[in-house]
Amino acid sequence: MKGITALHKLLLGLLLRCPNCGRGRLFDGLFNLFRMEATCPYCHVRYERQSGESIGGTLINLCLAEVLSVGGYFVTQAAFAPPLAFQLVFWITFNIVFIVLFYRHARGLWVSIAYLTGGVYPDPDARQHTGTDKR
Ligand SMILES: [Zn+2]
Repeated sequence: MKGITALHKLLLGLLLRCPNCGRGRLFDGLFNLFRMEATCPYCHVRYERQSGESIGGTLINLCLAEVLSVGGYFVTQAAFAPPLAFQLVFWITFNIVFIVLFYRHARGLWVSIAYLTGGVYPDPDARQHTGTDKR
């Protein structure tokens, strides 16, 4: 049962939802690609405590992009043997587009991992300072 809960928390982060309550959004708006909210407006957990914590999400994003690009290159080379120039243009473009589009989801996944390891929790005086309680 605990494994299902952990998987659910990881899924919430991947879907850009607060891993603590599942109601708050990690990013506000569809076009806000790179700036994550500081805290959840519902349960007031702080998503990242220190600058540089986003490096975990960036690492997930880059590693997954490289695995997919290099793996995709070898699979398409073995299956269809397209010209090298086509392969390079396609997989470099895929790599760049994937990194931009998956960035928020990788950050969300990292916030969930931080939550599962005890790094995401409310500030002690969060409700006194925010004034944005949406309950
Ligand atoms: Zn929340």
